[in-house]
Amino acid sequence: MDLPNPALAIYRYPVTVSPDTSLLEVLAKMNQIHGSQCALSNESKITDLNNYESSHNSQIHKINNCAVIVENEHLRGIITERDVVNWVAKGQNLAVPVGEVMTKKMITLTESEFKDVFVALSILRQNQIRHLPIVDDRGKLIGIVTAETIRQVLQPLNLLTMRRIGDVMTTQVIHASPSTLVLDLARLMAQNQVSCIVIANLLNLSLTSQQPIPIGIVTERDILQMQILGLDMSNIRAETVMSQPLFCMRPEHSLWVAHQEMQRRLVRRLVVTGKQGELVGVITQTNIMRALDPVEMYSVIETLQEVVNKQTIQLVTVNKQLELQAEEVRQALQKEQEINQLKSQFISMISHEFTSPLTGIIGLADLLKIQENKLTESKKNQYLNCISDSSKRMLDLVKNLLLISKSEQINLDFYPLPLNLNLFGQQLIGEMQIYDSNQHDFIFTYYGEENCQAFFDEKVLRHIFVNLFSNAIKYSPIKTQINFQIFLENEQGRAIFKIQDEGIGIPLKSQSRLFELFYRADNVDNTPGTGIGLAIVKKYIDLLKGEIIVESTVEVGTTFTVLLPLHK
Ligand code: ADP
Repeated sequence: MDLPNPALAIYRYPVTVSPDTSLLEVLAKMNQIHGSQCALSNESKITDLNNYESSHNSQIHKINNCAVIVENEHLRGIITERDVVNWVAKGQNLAVPVGEVMTKKMITLTESEFKDVFVALSILRQNQIRHLPIVDDRGKLIGIVTAETIRQVLQPLNLLTMRRIGDVMTTQVIHASPSTLVLDLARLMAQNQVSCIVIANLLNLSLTSQQPIPIGIVTERDILQMQILGLDMSNIRAETVMSQPLFCMRPEHSLWVAHQEMQRRLVRRLVVTGKQGELVGVITQTNIMRALDPVEMYSVIETLQEVVNKQTIQLVTVNKQLELQAEEVRQALQKEQEINQLKSQFISMISHEFTSPLTGIIGLADLLKIQENKLTESKKNQYLNCISDSSKRMLDLVKNLLLISKSEQINLDFYPLPLNLNLFGQQLIGEMQIYDSNQHDFIFTYYGEENCQAFFDEKVLRHIFVNLFSNAIKYSPIKTQINFQIFLENEQGRAIFKIQDEGIGIPLKSQSRLFELFYRADNVDNTPGTGIGLAIVKKYIDLLKGEIIVESTVEVGTTFTVLLPLHK
């Protein structure tokens, strides 16, 4: 919010009188319509600002509820409507010089200290005064600042529209019956330090709140006018002088509505009534100004800040959710892409893996059929062995494919039973030797308690180790050694299995990707394979909550170590 130039809030045409002017004359002046106003600070400097200020100042409503007492251009005192009402309430004479009634100990503000309108606002508020004379550095009066002049230049529309009348109105309202004498009203005002009395019919109470229904209002100003007119206040009843009909506001109306209504009706206060027309408070310009005072504003700003903070937190949360959703969508898309890629890899792998052995089998079978008589026995055996090898490879592949397709259901197939690992290792080595047609040198060693039963699902162990053995066989030159070791470590609650070969090895850069489906290292050359076996191995090991470690050096050999927890 842009703060207005404080100079614009100075009313430069207050009623000025000398100390010897009679109180009655001062009253007359205060009540008079100012025809020819003369700015107090119209010394000589005709600058643009001054032009603007004087034209603006003539738009400020007249401040004639006070008079300043000036002597030799110097401020001597101030008298307000309230002082006069107090004086009248005491039954004092109005013919006295104003110098005797005025407030001499004044709070003033020098123009140079009047840096922004809030300085004046807090002085008015702290000292509970309604008029603040502005003087120059030599004490010469420049003008008056009141809550009203500040409000007129401030006009913080937003702030006023945001706040309700009910939040800032005065609820302690002094009211009197229509038959109360005006002099008693003046006394009530003086006693209670209020500037108006609401006139209400005390017999006509609201049904729900038992509050009186207001019918009129009498203000300090009305009392002053009666004084000027020389009316006998001790004989006149409130109902004859009160302002009516009464225009009332509702507590839920905004301060902006109240402000506009005051400007339209040229009044400084409005009565606030509830749903049944019962009296609930009074809203004055001072109340509105309080809503604009720095401390009040601060609390409004704090509330707004809280709202902003809350909304920011909500936004951040929504943003996070959106980011999460975007991430989920991104991952789903990525997964779909990967699946598509896997599908095409799978199809090309399947066609290759089946076509070459099948072509070989068909070719060899045809040869055997056509040239049966011309072939030697050893040639026939060689062809039959080739057909058998190719068929085995295809059978392995089909088994692995079945496993992969069922991998989601692996959980269901996991039944641990007591198993003698020593016997298991010996049997497996035996089977592998037959499968390998004894082309490699197999060595099995068992480290652990003899005849000890460990709980394992033998079928699952076979899936793991058959795959690892067939790789060791496939990727190692014939006549090399393949070592199989089992360590049963009961105390550590685990079994360790090592399969070590002297084969082609695996390049370092490929070692971390070995367990990806269809992944094959680039040193495999023409060795047939699908890249499925280790993916299956890894799935089973994960199922058993185990671990697999690969150590390998190209052209030296590879060791796969499998650590499996013992099931009870
Ligand atoms: P594949 O059908 O290609 O053998 P696997 O999933 O069983 O598929 O193995 C993935 C890759 O890991 C192989 O292609 C090969 O590059 C490498 N590999 C696995 N075991 C060995 C081993 N014992 N020696 C050398 N390389 C191996």
